[in-house]
Amino acid sequence: MADQLLRATAADGGIRAVGLISTQLTEEARRRHKMSAVATAALGRTMSAGLLLSSSMKKAEARINIRINGDGPLGVVFADAGLDGTVRGYVTNPQVELPPNDKGKLDVGKAVGRNGFVYVVKDTGYDYPYSSTVELVSGEIGEDLTHYLVSSEQTPSALLLGVFVDKTGVAAAGGLLLQVLPQAAHDVRLIELLESRISALTGFTPLLRQGKSLSGVMQDLLGDLGLEIFPETQLVRFQCKCSFDRVLGALKMLGEAELKDMIVKDDGAEATCHFCAQVYQADSDQLARLIDDLRADALSTR
Ligand code: ZN
Repeated sequence: MADQLLRATAADGGIRAVGLISTQLTEEARRRHKMSAVATAALGRTMSAGLLLSSSMKKAEARINIRINGDGPLGVVFADAGLDGTVRGYVTNPQVELPPNDKGKLDVGKAVGRNGFVYVVKDTGYDYPYSSTVELVSGEIGEDLTHYLVSSEQTPSALLLGVFVDKTGVAAAGGLLLQVLPQAAHDVRLIELLESRISALTGFTPLLRQGKSLSGVMQDLLGDLGLEIFPETQLVRFQCKCSFDRVLGALKMLGEAELKDMIVKDDGAEATCHFCAQVYQADSDQLARLIDDLRADALSTR
């Protein structure tokens, strides 16, 4: 099934539900960054959370950045996701692999680390972006971001994230976000009901692997609570904003001496995008043109 995001409401608009399938984009990230299974799970969960969290923003260009900085061997896990359905991301040490945890699952908590912080930056498209920081709870990412939603955004929320990796790659990935909106936030019974239903689920990827659709999952969870699924399914994908022009711009900022050095020593320059692992190569002629540009810039500002 294509990667997609589906929105719904229930309980007369008191509950907001968003479901996501992100199998292909997680597999693309795995291939691009040559990631281990546990790194794929960590980044896949974080990218899924980014898409789910950005789905309620208003302006078309709105984006959310999630940076998870724990004390585990993966280093930083970073995802940048937008309301437009695009997401990109990386982990500092993509090749780290760990034995499964005591439940036989990928040990994301240990790979991320249990001590550290989650930094979330929301660029709503209006004025300045705003950011908040919460401490890690378990390093499992789903719990950590639920903690962020409850403590920073003060929205009772349940966030379920899953990535299933087999020998050939990502077999299933996705997530589900349920939130109790302000008009129903006093309804303790409703919140408890949602919590009990979410905790009864054994995970999200088993449902996908059983062949359940997003609307089927929502129907099972919220069908008796006046579920209304929005007719539009939004396609989502891995996409980066890097380009050769941006790389040239970054090289130019290194200055003339550095550029000359690259021409002499390496006969060019190679740059790899952090976010998508795309490799860009500039030859000596292109570097020489940057030096000409720098000299022209210097003359014009004299
Ligand atoms: Zn890129």
